[in-house]
Amino acid sequence: MSRRMLIAGNWKMNGQLSDLGYFSNLPEQVSTPDAEIIVCPPFPLLPASIEAAKTSFIVIGAQDCHGASSGAHTGDVSARLLAVLGVQYVIVGHSERRADHGETDAMIRSKAEAAIEAGLIPIICVGETLEQRQAGQAVEVVAAQLAGSVPKTGEYVVAYEPVWAIGTGLVAELEDIAQMHDEIRSRLTRGETTRILYGGSVKPDNCHALMLLDDVDGALVGGASLKAQSFAEIIKNTLG
Ligand code: PEP
Repeated sequence: MSRRMLIAGNWKMNGQLSDLGYFSNLPEQVSTPDAEIIVCPPFPLLPASIEAAKTSFIVIGAQDCHGASSGAHTGDVSARLLAVLGVQYVIVGHSERRADHGETDAMIRSKAEAAIEAGLIPIICVGETLEQRQAGQAVEVVAAQLAGSVPKTGEYVVAYEPVWAIGTGLVAELEDIAQMHDEIRSRLTRGETTRILYGGSVKPDNCHALMLLDDVDGALVGGASLKAQSFAEIIKNTLG
């Protein structure tokens, strides 16, 4: 079963209106890739990013959405509004949101369901902490996150992001990544067709080996997606 490779850049709380030359610089450095390339800027940059990327291969995603379609949720953004803007993907359950905002698996599932309902594809993040891995609980933790946060129907992407590998320069061992992706796939209802990304300090010099693993269908990239040049190198090295 072939699954289309997907490489997503997560800008987190970075980027300015003055940085949107990125959306012409990136395509200048990579010929149209045989993969989906997604960039997820902060909310206020979404409309201008969509406009700037519209003639390129770059698809725009968001970094979060609310589980409700509208209502008294100050500061939150609905999936429906994101879809109307032209956003196509949304990251939900990133470990920084689980940690900083106390997001639970149930909240993440409702966000993923709202995204699907609105016509978006959610990228559902799961991953264990260092303490959990050292205690031999990594698979158990990720399995519980999947059971609690993955919707019953609809298309979604799963991103396996060991928390200790995010923004630290540490990358999980290839063997551990392969094992975890296999565990994740075996637990998904439509495992054969669902894309499973790896995230955690993916860089131009390590992405090729990561993407050769059977069950790795792409990457969720934080820091190295901020500059068009390094994200372009990741795309080229991943597909090359
Ligand atoms: C992320 O933001 O999901 C991420 C994996 O960040 P980094 O690539 O910087 O580790």
